[in-house]
Amino acid sequence: SSNGPRVLYWFRTDLRIHDSPAIHHALSLEPSAFIPIWTWDPHYVYRARVGPNRWKFLLESQQVLSDRLKELNPKQKLHVVREGPTTVIPKLIRKWKIDVLVFEKDTDAYAKDRDKEVFEKVGALSKELGREVKVVTTVMGRTLFDPDELVKKNGGKPTMTMAQTVKAAEQIDPGDGGKKGEPRRCLPTPTWLPDPLDPTEMDLSSAAEFQHEVPDRKPDVNEGQRGLDKEEQHYENVAGPNNDFAVVTLEEMAIDPKMAMTPHKGGELEALRLLKSYIDNEEYVGTFEKPKSSPADFEPQSTTLLSPHHHFGTLSIRKFWWDVQEVFEKRKKAGKTNAPEPTNFPGQLLFRDMYFGAQAALGWAFAQTQGNPIARFIPWHLQSNYSDSPVGEHLLDGTYNVDDEKAEEYFRRWKEGRTGFPWIDALMRQLKYEGWMHHLGRHSVASFLTRGGCYVSWERGAEVFEEWLIDHETACNVGNWMWLSCTAFFSQFTRVYSPIAFGKKWDPEGHFVRKYVPELKNFDSKYIYEPNKAPIADQKRWGCQITGDGIDTGTEEMAKYPKPMFDFSEMRSFCLDKMKEAYGAHLYGDDPKVLSGEWKKI
Ligand code: FAD
Repeated sequence: SSNGPRVLYWFRTDLRIHDSPAIHHALSLEPSAFIPIWTWDPHYVYRARVGPNRWKFLLESQQVLSDRLKELNPKQKLHVVREGPTTVIPKLIRKWKIDVLVFEKDTDAYAKDRDKEVFEKVGALSKELGREVKVVTTVMGRTLFDPDELVKKNGGKPTMTMAQTVKAAEQIDPGDGGKKGEPRRCLPTPTWLPDPLDPTEMDLSSAAEFQHEVPDRKPDVNEGQRGLDKEEQHYENVAGPNNDFAVVTLEEMAIDPKMAMTPHKGGELEALRLLKSYIDNEEYVGTFEKPKSSPADFEPQSTTLLSPHHHFGTLSIRKFWWDVQEVFEKRKKAGKTNAPEPTNFPGQLLFRDMYFGAQAALGWAFAQTQGNPIARFIPWHLQSNYSDSPVGEHLLDGTYNVDDEKAEEYFRRWKEGRTGFPWIDALMRQLKYEGWMHHLGRHSVASFLTRGGCYVSWERGAEVFEEWLIDHETACNVGNWMWLSCTAFFSQFTRVYSPIAFGKKWDPEGHFVRKYVPELKNFDSKYIYEPNKAPIADQKRWGCQITGDGIDTGTEEMAKYPKPMFDFSEMRSFCLDKMKEAYGAHLYGDDPKVLSGEWKKI
């Protein structure tokens, strides 16, 4: 309405218009103007640990969102603002005379700090302006249940098991007439949008406070990363070089598009299309059990690959939940049984909520061992500080021992997919090139890097996943790494994945290895998981010699692939001994001995 409030809508991890509680709320205010923005969050834009594939996925998602907004109102679009939120939002509120700022709640540790700062700054501005600027921060849309509520119902403690999570959820009233323990029902997709302000009022090009220095990035092709060390500064308007608030391109971000080769597409339309394709297949949805899905399947993979859409909010998690429930109901009526929790789809989504609940309770401490009360302390090689965290920054003193040097090599070879174990290398190359890996593949490589092979700290592995996954989600990534390394959630460290037998069990012919480690594509199935055992003459005949450390990849006629970088059974026993010792010591990340570094002397 013409005398309604001016609403600034801040998109973050909710890049969609369907089932969006925060948009729903914003529109219920009957705004006279509605300005949807995405700000250049420094956490995202200026940190190196977002690989090219995730950038591509994000930009695609933004472009689709912008188009969707335009469909609802031709004057609308996603307004991308090239400055961090804590500084630019107060300036925008002042310039555009905004009355209400609305955004979806985010319980990540970083997001909580950032949002608190925005809240405080807008409060101060409100006083200065002598008029009320409201900030609506309480609407949750990222998870089935509000993680803070889960924690509250779990006695203030992190949700560490599925049973705790379900029990806590059962005490939460969805508030829409539904049963306790059920997620809220989906909200309708808007069919219209109010206008933004008129173009002259929107224009920021003449206001000095919106001109600022930005780094002019040069791509660093070797690293496949944005070359953060090669920055030059230049001036730019926060609305972009053409003053049109456009979605940036990979080229503008100095990301070589050749480094962003993921076949997985971003955007709400693709997410809805994918979901529908599964939902239409009632048999698949009704019988899906995660442990029975193959990590070796590709094109198509055996699970949904909806995880990046959940991360960016291009798919509502509750839509997934309720669409699956509908299929379950239909099948029940037809006398068919559905797969049980937690291995079925609803169970998968509940695992996600469990990790969000654990993170919400612990904040920054959740993402690392130091200071983390739930993280069992294991004196891994290459102990690291989860570098986003302000907790315990002094703890990494950089002392290396001989084992650490060896471990550094194992770590690098694991990261680059040249361990000499084809199953592990295929998975790591799939991750690097495509940004996604099946859950059991993640199990294999995470167990291999930590307690079942290299004995390297899980935090180093989590950092690599953070960079390369298109679905990277701190709560899920860190939670699962702690699970796999027997640091938290799971403790049966004697159950180790073999880097040979596990792949063979799923894919005896080695199709997956042949796809991602193509230098081995001609090898006989008998040797595909242990190519070093093939006779030299056969290696030559099949066009790949098993030699070296994988840096020299040979020639087109005669490739080179490395021998296993260590004897797996030797390393497995080494790890088992270490794990037994660590479990015997009963130290956790918040123990004074751990915090002071005294453990090194133990
Ligand atoms: P599906 O099997 O189709 O499951 C449907 C949805 O359920 C997923 O999209 C996801 O949102 C959720 N889900 C499924 N399994 C899990 C799980 N174990 N934990 C949390 N949520 C789950 N998942 C992420 O979303 N982001 C991460 O950064 C991430 N890092 C991981 C790191 C390790 C070491 C491991 C072992 C797992 C990690 N996972 C992560 C969990 C899981 O592997 C992925 O969610 C899943 O493989 C995504 O593929 P999908 O969408 O086809 O899953």
